[in-house]
Amino acid sequence: MTHTVTLIPGDGIGPEITAATVRILEATGVKFEWERQEAGADAYEKYHEYLPQDLIDSFERTHVALKGPITTPIGGGFSSINVALRKRFELYANFRPIRNLPHIPTRYPDVDLIIIRENTEGLYSGIEHEVVPGVVESLKIITEKASTRIARFAFEYARKNQRKRIHCIHKANIMKLSDGLFLRCTRNISHEYPEITYGEHIVDNTCMQLVTNPYQYDMLVLENFYGDIISDLCAAFVGGLGVVPGANFGDGRAIFEAVHGSAPDIAGRGIANPTALLRSGILMLRHLGESDAAWRIRNAIEKVYRDKTKRTRDVGGTATTSQFADAIIEAMEAQSESAQAEAVIRQT
Ligand code: ATP
Repeated sequence: MTHTVTLIPGDGIGPEITAATVRILEATGVKFEWERQEAGADAYEKYHEYLPQDLIDSFERTHVALKGPITTPIGGGFSSINVALRKRFELYANFRPIRNLPHIPTRYPDVDLIIIRENTEGLYSGIEHEVVPGVVESLKIITEKASTRIARFAFEYARKNQRKRIHCIHKANIMKLSDGLFLRCTRNISHEYPEITYGEHIVDNTCMQLVTNPYQYDMLVLENFYGDIISDLCAAFVGGLGVVPGANFGDGRAIFEAVHGSAPDIAGRGIANPTALLRSGILMLRHLGESDAAWRIRNAIEKVYRDKTKRTRDVGGTATTSQFADAIIEAMEAQSESAQAEAVIRQT
């Protein structure tokens, strides 16, 4: 079976890590038909649209996308296309598993933490205006509907995947109405899942608790802005932004993308780490029902990370983006050769 997938390489390091990831995904033998689409500043130059209709039509057809980061101008310019895509397609749940890779020395080994970030509202509603010169207002939108559905998503995931604890992260002592509503909705849903231990922590305390002892948490459910910040903090537990994958889920649709941004400081130099997008690709393979291929890439990553010369610089290695991809493909080929040899031995 061929899977038709919308491919959004993005900009900055996006095209480099996407090319490496696509090469590896194709090397698994799974058949893909990629519908390549542009968005952001590059798309605007060509089509005078930041989010072209062709991209929207493609995703409406495929319902699945693999996406590189798209640069958002700071302090002005157009609104984030990354956020616009999540909102436009109601991809309300941002799923970010924080897990160590083997052979990457970090302060904390064996971290296994799931972040579930609300993806469609909060301060990311993008509603800002100038009240009078010198005074601006950014609106934080929290609705019962979105808070309840993200809480439901988190608890359902926990139930299906035998997770034990969920903490709702909030600042309801200060934002009594908005965070208060988010907290109340999550608490209400928690009553339907008595087998999952439920806790509530204030976001600033959570930062301190995480850095002191990340193992006390199993899953975190957060509104949009806290989810963004806490994700980057947690990335530091497992080797940095170059390795943390993500997925945005809505009803029957998903976009798979790394947690990191477009990293303009290293763009175009061939040194970016494609692991985060590749691990997002593993999540995509599972979503497409291609678990064998997902396992093969996972095993290859474990093998390649043993050898420093095959890892990229951000994780202590010396390899370029494409040398890393070559090493992963070689490791997958070696796996299938040894599997074939084993099969022959079993038959004789
Ligand atoms: P955004 O706000 O757009 O998500 P960000 O603030 O998280 O972006 P990034 O663009 O992700 O910033 O980059 C943060 C730092 O992490 C930069 O120094 C960048 O070089 C590094 N970095 C991010 N992704 C990677 C990667 N895939 N490989 C190597 N380094 C990376």
